[in-house]
Amino acid sequence: MRLLTYSDWQALAAAQVFEGRAYINGGYLGTAATFPTVNPANRQTLARIAACGAAEVDAAVAAARTAFDDGRWADRSPLERKQVLLRFVGLLRANADELALLETLDTGKPISDALGVDVAGAAYCVQWFAEAIDKVGGEVVPVAGNLLGMVTREPLGVVAAVVPWNFPLLMASWKFAPALAAGNSVILKPSEKSPLTAIRIAALASEAGIPAGVFNVLPGGSETGRLLALHMDVDCISFTGSTAVGRQIMQCAAQSNLKRTWLELGGKSPNIVLADCPDVHAAARAAADGVFYNQGEMCSAGSRVLVQREVYPAFLAALIEAGHRYVPGDPLDPETRMGAIVDQTQYDKVLGYIDAGRKESTLLAGGEAKLTETGLYIEPTLFEVAPHHRLAREEIFGPVCALIVFDTLDEALSIANDSDYGLAAAVWTRDLATAHLAARKLRAGTVWVNCYEEGGDQNLPFGGFKQSGNGRDKSLHALDKYTELKSTLIKLRD
Ligand code: NAD
Repeated sequence: MRLLTYSDWQALAAAQVFEGRAYINGGYLGTAATFPTVNPANRQTLARIAACGAAEVDAAVAAARTAFDDGRWADRSPLERKQVLLRFVGLLRANADELALLETLDTGKPISDALGVDVAGAAYCVQWFAEAIDKVGGEVVPVAGNLLGMVTREPLGVVAAVVPWNFPLLMASWKFAPALAAGNSVILKPSEKSPLTAIRIAALASEAGIPAGVFNVLPGGSETGRLLALHMDVDCISFTGSTAVGRQIMQCAAQSNLKRTWLELGGKSPNIVLADCPDVHAAARAAADGVFYNQGEMCSAGSRVLVQREVYPAFLAALIEAGHRYVPGDPLDPETRMGAIVDQTQYDKVLGYIDAGRKESTLLAGGEAKLTETGLYIEPTLFEVAPHHRLAREEIFGPVCALIVFDTLDEALSIANDSDYGLAAAVWTRDLATAHLAARKLRAGTVWVNCYEEGGDQNLPFGGFKQSGNGRDKSLHALDKYTELKSTLIKLRD
């Protein structure tokens, strides 16, 4: 297979036709109200997108409910659902170039990452849950001899998935794959900043054989999400996004029907480099990847790098060096490692933090905006900060790394845990006992030892402690989110 070149991607981009309509009950549907989706690499409007309001939300929920109630998907055997979902995987892979192109144009992320991580990861996620669903069963539990006690899992019904723009297709797949595999009907609401892949895959899902009404896509902004969160006939809202919006989603669920509410929220993850770290250069490269990958627009970004004093000078030099690999460039160039910031709002927010850092903290590298004539680019930026500085406490969601120097492991763990967030953490050490003790003490849903963000393995659950959310995406544990437990007790004789 020939890898596409920069000019191939440019040609494909020029020829791309964009679908901007909602997908409800097995067909595309336009709306009177629309909004633009913009390419942050050149600030040109790509397409106008349906802005779904109450009418579309009600129509999608009704279609999803009917599809669920008549069992056209939920009542199929797990083996049949698996086969359909595997056909869907095949179509995602067959259309990988187009999906990657849409993701790159919509978000500004490098095309190599869109292809190798976002689309490949989404296809693998659907494959993983498809392959799992005909392997998991219920329990027959110990009860008295005249009884039979069973514990089974049933789909919830109508699942609304509201997702962010940083990994639009991948984050969506972490929700719709387990939800569909378990037999639910799904309504996917992509971010208004990145709706194109979600809209496109609706047709692929249908082509694969997912019945009408089972997979719906409603593009729109906060109001569309709010309507879903408030809807009395939505059984579950599965959300990935900011902690502030997660709070509102929970309130909407409380105000309406107490729908199951799963929140994957923000982070300010600590990456602790101890003096006995196995390889300072490897740790620095991983730290750069951990905070600059995807323009730093990552919930699990290792945005606080805590470094033990003895190793600080060597680590800093290696980190600055490693940061040079992230020169911002045209996202369509396969050589580009850092693309454009997703939109003007996010760009201004990141620059606001860089300004705050210049006043409060010490700038070590980068810090320059690269607002080219065409696109929204920001250099990888390093600050040395104190733990109470804003850059050390608030999620920036951009290529800004806050370095903190510490003396003892206890001090590092205390700084690391002094956060409202608890999504991920890492520790670098040669000592096995230190690694285990630190992993145990770190209050985070994921702890990496001597790596950061290693592997896209679906077997490990992903989610947060504290205000980074509840529930877990990925792994068999994710199926729990999209099923109810049922106890059935049968009296066999008196
Ligand atoms: P966001 O909270 O602004 O928006 C997320 C989604 O919610 C979008 O689809 C948006 O349209 C919708 N929305 C906005 N306001 C709403 C409301 N009042 N009611 C219902 N829906 C509403 O987040 P974002 O800017 O798209 O994404 C960045 C955030 O996502 C960061 O905080 C990041 O850490 C987090 N994130 C978390 C994970 C994780 O797995 N924990 C993964 C990726 C991103």
